[in-house]
This record gives sequence, C-alpha cells and structure tokens, in this order.
Amino acid sequence: MSPCETIYVFEPGARPALPVRQDEAGSEELLFPVNTIYCVGQNYAAHAREMGTDPERSPPVFFRKPTGSLLPACDGRGEPRLVNLPYPPQTTELHHEIELVAALKGGGRNIPRDEAAGCVFGYGVGLDMTRRDLQTVARKAGMPWDMAKGFDDAAPCSALTPVSRCGHPERGAIELTVNGEPRQKSDLEDLIWSVPETITFLSRLVTLRPGDLIFTGTPEGVGAVCRGDRLEGSIDGVGEITAVIT
Ligand code: MN
Repeated sequence: MSPCETIYVFEPGARPALPVRQDEAGSEELLFPVNTIYCVGQNYAAHAREMGTDPERSPPVFFRKPTGSLLPACDGRGEPRLVNLPYPPQTTELHHEIELVAALKGGGRNIPRDEAAGCVFGYGVGLDMTRRDLQTVARKAGMPWDMAKGFDDAAPCSALTPVSRCGHPERGAIELTVNGEPRQKSDLEDLIWSVPETITFLSRLVTLRPGDLIFTGTPEGVGAVCRGDRLEGSIDGVGEITAVIT
C-alpha cells in the first residue's frame, strides 16, 4: 500500500493575522497569527472608585467572535491605516465599543495570576462592533447573542504594540470619537478585571493558546453609528484605529 496523501477539499486559505508595530524601518513585515478571539462582557465601573466604593466584582463574562471577523486596521508594517467597515445586514443599531486588546504568545490552563502577564505578547486597540438591536432581543428572550457580536468585519483591530515597547498598560486614556465628537472616554485603570486577572479566569474555562486575542471590555459611552461615520479611537501608549462605516 502506498502512503496516504492528504488533500484538502478546497484551499484552506491564509490564517487571519495582525501586523506588529516595529521600532526600526526595515523590509520585513512581522505578523501575529490569530487563533481565537475572546471578549469580556462589561468590565469598567468608571465612577465606582471615585465615589469610594468597590464595584461589584462578580466574575467576568466571556464570549467569542469568529476569527474570520478580524479586520486589521493597519498596513503590513503596523502603521495605522483607515479601513472601511461595512454596515452589517439585519440591523438598524450598529454600536461601537472601543477596547484594549491583549494578544497572547503563551497559554495553558489554570494560569496563575502571577504568570498571566508573561503570556501577553502585546496590545492593540480594537472595536467590538455590536448589533445592539439583535443583542437586546436575544437577551430578553434568554437566547444566545452570537449573531449580535459575530458578523463579518465585527472585530476591527489596530496593529499590535509589543510588550517590549509599551509594557503592560494599567492606566492611560482610552477614547473614541465619531466624526470628531467625543463618544467614549475613560481610563484603563477603571477596568474592573485587569488583563492578568482576565487571563487567569479565562484559562479556568478553556485552554488558552498562542495567537489568542482578548478584547477586554469597553468603557461607558457606547452608541450607534451610520454609514459615512468616521470612528477614531486611541489608547495611550498602545495605538490608534480609524474606520469609516460604508
Ligand atoms: Mn465589548
């Protein structure tokens, strides 16, 4: 018997990836291959701390977006690039959610809190685009809301800034404007669950792997966008993202 040859039914195609920002001008493009896109549900309590109270620390809630919904908003060398974000079908209420994105180079199960930061390769600026109307209906009905979060181009993301360049950002402005008007403005220090804590929680539920992205949750100020709107987001020390709804 001859050895068995493996043939794909169709070409598997390129794996989704995010370019990495580089210090030196060079000819290479450094790509971070993306595995699973995890997202954290509500993870900011902007006013709780300034009022001297500890926000309710119920365990974080996670969901996923399809890896194919990733939309890199940069050129191959990681420089910011305006992207067109198609208005998805079956919604009249497309919302923006700007989020710090952690990109993992390590993984595992039951990752201890003091080892979690060591799993992070770098950070990016993401938009957790949401069909809010579908989500609201699904929530009320107690049904899954995957289709509210996981549609084509639902996960625009900037290039990744390596930890060697930005460290592990624990404070700094996170903001988003729409057509120049401020919509979301907060600080990373208002995250209820830090990135390491989030990694620890998530690794108790699933095996984390190199290439996983974690969208860490959005601050207050989410809202609807229309065709033609220009979204500009930034996180201090991490990067920026610009998208136009088409
Ligand atoms: Mn979100």
